[in-house]
Amino acid sequence: MQRGHGPAVGLLDASPLAVVDQVTKTYPRVTALSSVSLTIYPGERVALVGPSGGGKTTLLSLLSGVLQPDAGSLTVAGKTLAQKLSRRELSSMVGIIHQQLDLVPQLPVVHNVLAGRFGQWGMFRSFLSMVWPQDYNMAARALQQMGIEDKIRERTSHLSGGEQQRVAIARAMVQAPRLVLADEPVSSVDPGRAQEILQLLTSLTESQGRALVASMHTPYLVRQFFSRAVGLRDGQVQFDIPASELTPAIQSELYSLGYQDSDLPWH
Ligand code: ADP
Ligand code: MG
Repeated sequence: MQRGHGPAVGLLDASPLAVVDQVTKTYPRVTALSSVSLTIYPGERVALVGPSGGGKTTLLSLLSGVLQPDAGSLTVAGKTLAQKLSRRELSSMVGIIHQQLDLVPQLPVVHNVLAGRFGQWGMFRSFLSMVWPQDYNMAARALQQMGIEDKIRERTSHLSGGEQQRVAIARAMVQAPRLVLADEPVSSVDPGRAQEILQLLTSLTESQGRALVASMHTPYLVRQFFSRAVGLRDGQVQFDIPASELTPAIQSELYSLGYQDSDLPWH
């Protein structure tokens, strides 16, 4: 079930925000992605679904500019990621929230949030910020939107897992990249918290010209928060459908688990 995907309704004139063109990525023992193509338009919220090892993290790392493809090309906001981009350019184009969050636990929250500005600030101001937080108010505003402004001076390691996740999202918020990437943002949180986190993440892409790509495992959350679902397995795109069409049956077929909708705890 392969289907081409156009821009969301009302965005027919928009040019693509990200283009993944026949990208192949090989590790010493395995081909993680095999000739994958994907076009992402502003305003889209794309869920990458599929079994472990399918290539989701590799695709997100390529889109973040951290990994380079062996073949094919990736373009974000009209710029090829293989070009020698400055840190400043790259940080305004893409931001990634890793599964392990990558916060510095021994630092106060404000520093971890402002790390999202480092790409824009350059070395000196970033360094200075570790002593005197630069743009404290910007960090405060982002934390306020996350509902944890009272934690701004707290040591990050003292926060709960869910609060730390909000700090990572606040960091992405002050970075304000066009393309927000998140690797399994809700895999380690309870269902209630998952709703909150996805609400916050999708709010990052509400301002114009932005898009979200996140790896996900839960069909009902994909249907609720995303506009599009891309199934990846064995490094290939198996389907590319509107998120509303991602039923548990389609997902389990992708995972090759072979059970029925009615066997699942969610629908
Ligand atoms: P997913 O995120 O969907 O679980 P990954 O992108 O992490 O998939 O992995 C795709 C494939 O690439 C897997 O077979 C995995 O074992 C392999 N792989 C991922 N990262 C590395 C690496 N750094 N070195 C070697 N193999 C890797
Ligand atoms: Mg992964």
